[in-house]
Amino acid sequence: MPRAWHLESRPQGKPTPANFALKDVALPPVDDGMVRVRNLWLSVDPYMRGRMNDVKSYVAPFELGKPMEGGAIGEVIESRVDGLAPGDLVQHMAGWRDETALPARAVNKLPNLGIEPQRFLGVLGVPGATAWYGLLDVANAKDGETVFVSAAAGAVGSAVVQIAKAKGMTVIGSAGGADKCDYVRSLGADHAIDYKAGPILKSLGSAAPDGIDVYFDNVGGDHLDAALAHARNHARLAICGMIGGYNATNAASFRFIMRIIAARIRIQGFLVTDYLGRMGEFYREMAPLVASGAVTSRETVADGLEAAPDAFLGLFEGSNTGKMLVRL
Ligand code: NDP
Repeated sequence: MPRAWHLESRPQGKPTPANFALKDVALPPVDDGMVRVRNLWLSVDPYMRGRMNDVKSYVAPFELGKPMEGGAIGEVIESRVDGLAPGDLVQHMAGWRDETALPARAVNKLPNLGIEPQRFLGVLGVPGATAWYGLLDVANAKDGETVFVSAAAGAVGSAVVQIAKAKGMTVIGSAGGADKCDYVRSLGADHAIDYKAGPILKSLGSAAPDGIDVYFDNVGGDHLDAALAHARNHARLAICGMIGGYNATNAASFRFIMRIIAARIRIQGFLVTDYLGRMGEFYREMAPLVASGAVTSRETVADGLEAAPDAFLGLFEGSNTGKMLVRL
């Protein structure tokens, strides 16, 4: 019997395993125009924390007692539609489960680029596209500029570091711990800051004595405040995520917020979904960089459907280097 993780209760603050329940699910019949898919890889992502709350946002909350959703890669095992055959690999949003039956319009066949399928959940998927458009379009980062990126050892951050280096920028990345900082340097970053070893405000000042032109924010809070403090005139801050605040019950305060005025800082939030119509451009530019090894990626892999909640919760503990994935 197929199984799916359900949202059992809504968390206050940090989620716990008790918020999730793994239950049997009955699949609908595979009618004309549908496929049955066995999932191979599930994505767990920080934005799912927001979907656990019952608040209106850019994406609907998970429903209590219903199967959760998320990005996944699976193999077609039954098809009643032209153009999709058993054995084809597809990407879809019916994650958090081992098997699903979907209309063909809800799945995308993976292009045959000779690239491992799980990369389409990471460097060649949403995290990679977030890095690409956030850095180059939202922040309009240019050759010769100095870029600071937080959560630089994570899925989005590690792609930002490498894209920025490929485009001729000086890169400062922050991450939690010495090993992650070694990884960030191995990606080409000019400086890696272990934010757990001392205040980020001071470390960023030492790494960028002349200030930063661009901040790619994955963390919010003290990292964003430090970026405001060290922003050069006309700096651009692309606000991608604020994971440091997702489980917080108190609002962050910003000591350097008024620098926005004197330094004419531009702060722009964005959603990668705004760029879905431009994914072709992203694949054209990024796929050769990945295929040639110019842009590398790492994954932290949890095995088995049972491991999905712990893998998700690990994102808030920094358990992952690169993309956090569940392999079925
Ligand atoms: P990551 O792979 O970066 O994993 C999350 C990482 O965040 C952890 O490994 C940890 O790294 C760091 N972290 C967790 N808690 C804290 C904290 N309290 N303070 C500082 N760092 C913390 O995840 P993603 O690459 O998938 O996502 C990165 C960010 O991008 C998230 O904020 C996410 O919400 C956002 N995002 C936004 C999108 C958009 O469209 N705007 C699309 C995709 C992602 P460490 O050990 O270094 O602390």
